Amino acid sequence: MSDEAPSHPGRPGPEGAAAPATGGPASEDLMERVVGLCKRRGFIFQSAEIYGGFRSTYDYGPLGVNLLRNVKNAWWEAMVQRRTDVVGLDAAILSPPAVWQASGHLANFTDPLVDCRACHQRWRQDKIGGVCPNCGSTEFTEARAFNLMFKTHAGPLEDEGAVAYLRPETAQGMFVNFVNVLQTTRKKPPFGIAQVGKSFRNEITPQNFVFRTREFEQMEMEYFVPPAEAQHWFEYWLAERFNWYLGLGIPADKLRLRHHDPDELSHYSAGTADVEFLFPWGWDELEGIANRTDFDLKAHAAASGEKLDYFDPTTNERYTPYVIEPAAGATRTMMAFLLAAYDEDEVGGEPRTVLRIHPRLAPYQVAVLPLSKKDSLEPLSRRVLELLQPHLMVDYDVTQGIGKRYRRQDEIGTPWCVTIDFDSLEDGGVTVRDRDSTEQVRVPVDGLLDELRGRLDAR
Ligand code: ATP
Repeated sequence: MSDEAPSHPGRPGPEGAAAPATGGPASEDLMERVVGLCKRRGFIFQSAEIYGGFRSTYDYGPLGVNLLRNVKNAWWEAMVQRRTDVVGLDAAILSPPAVWQASGHLANFTDPLVDCRACHQRWRQDKIGGVCPNCGSTEFTEARAFNLMFKTHAGPLEDEGAVAYLRPETAQGMFVNFVNVLQTTRKKPPFGIAQVGKSFRNEITPQNFVFRTREFEQMEMEYFVPPAEAQHWFEYWLAERFNWYLGLGIPADKLRLRHHDPDELSHYSAGTADVEFLFPWGWDELEGIANRTDFDLKAHAAASGEKLDYFDPTTNERYTPYVIEPAAGATRTMMAFLLAAYDEDEVGGEPRTVLRIHPRLAPYQVAVLPLSKKDSLEPLSRRVLELLQPHLMVDYDVTQGIGKRYRRQDEIGTPWCVTIDFDSLEDGGVTVRDRDSTEQVRVPVDGLLDELRGRLDAR
């Protein structure tokens, strides 16, 4: 029990029990507190901050980079590693206009841009409900179609022949490599190609911290299926993707599936549903799951003159597969995990901030904390650190009192602290302390890795 005092004076003292969670701060405050935590503790920094910051671009700091990597790894594990029907890809970000001409993005990847006639601010018409968020006016210019793709030039000449685009989605990389993957892997439908990487959109109004930025990271998979099976696989992936978020700790009451109305569908889609999260400002999209039909493969086949289809030797039929696409945002999802995990409670009568993030996503799974800075504890502490480091992300902290150090780890979501004390030198045991319950148990150093792995696997 957490409030059971270790009877040994050489060990970390009791903290008192964690009071039951209060459900955290009200949603108006939640966003501010999470953004504050991200800056204070080094999850996310404003980009180019020393030059006043570059609007709506962000850099991921020492903790953020771990968390983001863990989100992407969890996705990769579920979508590629644990399956035999999905393979990975890492395609180029720079791409020629031909790709975006064929995919329809040059013509259709636009948002409706309006100017407020009163204050002259620019807005995305479909996001403001007819009222200027800045001044309240309802008078706007006619909407113009604004293309979201970033255009640049490859090579020293800035003429039309040198135009290139930064990809606005990773998906096209899978379509243009369809035949390469088919031939090199001998996969046959149903099979998928997955990719994680940066995408760029010149958003009219980037907003809500890293929810909508111009440079962001996506996790997308294109699942190629016989056309007659498309509906089945669409429903299959809706369930798979919804459960992925639940499994990583997003509470069920903060997650929902929303099917698009026919007039909302993208130019390529025969059906789309979004996984939505209850953000502090309301329900909003984490991931879109779409039935893209054979639109993309047919469009690229027509434009390139290459055959992008599949010959099924068992039926002697040649067909263009349909595609089911679960398309998630890594950076946006990371923010949802932070918002869902943020909590405030009391330990031993003192308030604390605690990030109840899933241990697999936590920036550090373990913190190794020598009880005192005394040299005598260092060799064993180093040994414990080196025992854990090949297997887990480990923080090492020797500064300040143990209570303060526990609080610092709670705030960044470290699920377990391992304290090395003076008794450890005698009995070879260390104290493992749990973030959520503050419970402490004594574990022999030899069994420590198994103990921690067991706890991780149990989640
Ligand atoms: P929206 O309608 O919000 O602009 P979308 O429906 O066009 O988004 P998709 O093209 O379906 O978005 O992209 C798939 C996922 O990529 C989104 O669910 C989101 O998680 C992520 N994403 C898209 N645009 C951005 C952005 N500007 N910043 C961060 N993540 C993004």
